[in-house]
Formats: sequence, structure tokens, C-alpha cells
Amino acid sequence: MKKTKIIATMGPAIMAEDVLSKMFDKGLDVCRLNFSHGTHEDHLKTIQLIRQLNKKKGLNVAILGDLQGPKIRTGKMKEGVVLKEGTVLEIVTTDILGDEKRFSINYKDLPKDVTEGEIILLNDGKLSLEILETNKEDKVKTKVIHGGPLTSNKGVNLPNTKISLPCLTEKDLKDLNFALEQKLDWIGLSFVRKGLDIIELKKIIQEKEAKARVIAKIEKPEAIENIDEIVSETDALMVARGDLGVEIPYQKVPLIQKEIINKGMKYAKPVIVATQMMESMIESSSPTRAEVNDVANAVLDGADAVMLSAETSVGKFPIEVIETMANIVEEMETFEGIYYKETEPEHRGDRFITDSICYNACRLSRRTEAKAILTMSFTGYTAYKIASQRPKAETYVFTSNKEILTQLSLIWGVRGFFYDKRVSTDATIADCKQILKDNGIVKEGDLVINIASMPIEALGKSNMLKLSKVE
Ligand code: PEP
Repeated sequence: MKKTKIIATMGPAIMAEDVLSKMFDKGLDVCRLNFSHGTHEDHLKTIQLIRQLNKKKGLNVAILGDLQGPKIRTGKMKEGVVLKEGTVLEIVTTDILGDEKRFSINYKDLPKDVTEGEIILLNDGKLSLEILETNKEDKVKTKVIHGGPLTSNKGVNLPNTKISLPCLTEKDLKDLNFALEQKLDWIGLSFVRKGLDIIELKKIIQEKEAKARVIAKIEKPEAIENIDEIVSETDALMVARGDLGVEIPYQKVPLIQKEIINKGMKYAKPVIVATQMMESMIESSSPTRAEVNDVANAVLDGADAVMLSAETSVGKFPIEVIETMANIVEEMETFEGIYYKETEPEHRGDRFITDSICYNACRLSRRTEAKAILTMSFTGYTAYKIASQRPKAETYVFTSNKEILTQLSLIWGVRGFFYDKRVSTDATIADCKQILKDNGIVKEGDLVINIASMPIEALGKSNMLKLSKVE
């Protein structure tokens, strides 16, 4: 079993059952619905297909609903517009057909939020404008710094501006409602700026009595500034390198990727590395050497998951790209340096006993070369904690909570099993070992570690560690 998980963005390229089925077989762990594209009807079909395949194959592939967030875009443009360096260009908040002199934007408060000298980037940073003046109402005058062709609905980034748009737009709220109704496992929040953005999203999830967990997409300089409060509020993080590399100088992204992964590991918050990982495979059946190195380095950095976007949603080789990624991941996981990142648990807090059990399970697995760590978990807490220590032993979570079974597929090295018997600790341990043996995961003579809570009927917090042989 590979430990680093693979996420693939769904799209027209993989709506055929046999294509998605093969992607599952090649090692896909999480399906991402990108709410920037497609209708709820399209997404519903995809959700149904994923769940059918899970049932058929006995798998627990997770579903991530990725909210677009306050994505700023240019309005409609005339055909063939090319912006020329040094020319003066107006941005307006009313709907007009754009040309070389002015174009509209979907961000009504732009004139209020910007100040002279700030930079506006268009089309993934390929074009840039400098703000000359604003009427603070409906018009901003700019100078073209880097010109080029500009077509309709292109992404706009304002790296120096404190944007007043809410983190959840009206569209996001509708998409969120749909995602929660469909009981998706994970919700991605784009353009997170502060911890409060996560708190607001979690409040809605709680009000709807949903169990989805939250991924903070890190793609703004403000998120980097507020990374500690975001890490503390969120359940997982994504290094969203596409927008991040536009909003901050691209050369800063590699170190930020490492820093976010290290923080995620320290606080047991899974980290996804995203965007352009296998970009050339949109068109080609094999990756560039640089892409192979990029995926490999994300695994070596300690990412929980690596993500594919257009490579699978609209690419020509959606099955091959999963296979290629899985090959790189598996090869990198032969490198000893990625394992055993234990951090001693802090004495403070009500989880000290469980944290100590997880920490010592990892250490014990190292000393004894145990094949697997088996944990009983209702909330999944121990799974996150064990994974964050990066044991070489595989981690199997036995849970009666169906809602976490698929959710756990995002977590490094973790695989879930449904188990709802409650006889005694001894009986449960024997049962779980037998399930792994029956599935060909462990064999007679293998050492395994069990984590449970005693007494078992209490469904309490883990407080017990056992090392034993498979019989
Ligand atoms: C990104 O910008 O890297 C990203 C993952 O965001 P999206 O694909 O949603 O624009």
C-alpha cells in the first residue's frame, strides 16, 4: 500500500465508468469536485459514480468539494484584444464589452479597496498593471506594465491589496449547501486569509449537522502571514501553488511548501501539494523529468497527498497519469528518510494520554519492525495523530463510524475498515488482526501493534497499547 495519497480532479475526461474504475485500480484515493466548473447536476452524477465504484470494489475513495471562493475575474472582452505596455487602461465595475482602453471586473469594491501604486495581475500573472488612480466608486485607472492578449473571464490577482470580499461568496454558499447535502467528506476553501474564515465555514457545517472536514487552501500572502491561526483552526491544508505562485514571487513557493508541510505534520493536519504536478500529461502520455522530480520532492518533503487538476479533469491520459504518479510515490517511499517524524506530545491538554499512546506506538513500531498499527477510532483522532508521526508500519483504523471511513482516505498511510462489534478489548484485538490476515495484509508471525480504549464499551479516548504476533 502506498502511503502518500493521490487526489484527482473530476471532469469531462473521466465521466465514463470504465475510466474512473481504472483510475481507482491504479491508486486514486480522493476525487475532487471543482465547483469553479460544472453544474450541480454534473457533480451529482460524478458523486453517484464514485459511490457505486466504492461499493463494487470495497474501497473508500473520498470526495472533496472544492469551493471557488472570492475568485476575481475580468468581464467579457472583444475578440483579439492585446494590451500594450505603457498604455493607460481603465477598469470599471459596470458590465461593458472590454477593449484596449477599458474592461470590467466582477469585484464591485475594487475602486474602494485599492490604492495608487498597487499591482493588478491578469491571466495567471502573465499581464500586469499598475494602479495610477481610483475614483473610489466605480473606476480605476491603470498603466500596462506587461502587456499581451486578454480574453474574457480571465483570473485577476491583487497581491498587495487587502480585499474586502467575503471568503464565502453567494455561489460558495449554494455549492456548500449542495456538498453538505451530498455528505461530501472534505470541503476545500479557496483564498483563505485568516483563521476566522475557517471558523465561519465550520459554523455552517455544524449548523447543518454535517461531518465534512475543512481544507484551507493557502494561495494568498495574507494566509502566509496568518498561517499559525489557520493551521490551528483547519483540519487540513492545501499548498495551492497555482494562485500562490502568482500572488507571491514564484521562487518563494518551494520553501513555503516545505514550511506548510512541516507545520501540518507538527499539528497532525494533513497537507496536500497541488497544481501543475504532471501538467505536461494533459497532452502527453509521459511526464517531463522536472515533473517527476516535483512529485518526488513533495513526497520527500512529507506531503500527505499530491493532487492532479487539469491532468485528470480534461487531460488525454487520466489513467496513465495516476499510474505514473503512483509509481513515483512508491519509489520515493523506499527512502528511509521520510519515516519516523515523531514529535513528543505536550503535557498540556486533555489529549495527552491518547497523544502519548500514538507517539509510543510509532516508536515501538520502529524498534520492533511491526508490520501494522491497528487502531480503534470513532472520530479518527488517533489516525491523524499516528500518521503525523510517519511510522513505516501501515496504519489501519477500525471504526463503527461510517462517516470517517472515506474521510480517512486523504491521510498519509491510513486505511479504514468498518467494525462495529463491541464484545471486549481482547475479542476486538483478535478480530481486527484476523480481518487483516483474511485480507492478506498481515501473515502468521508478523508483529502488530493495537491501540484501543479500555473499557471498549465506553468508546472512549485511546489509552491502551499492545504488541503481539499474528497467529
Ligand atoms: C491553485 O491555485 O493551485 C488551486 C489548486 O486552486 P484552483 O485550482 O481551485 O484554482
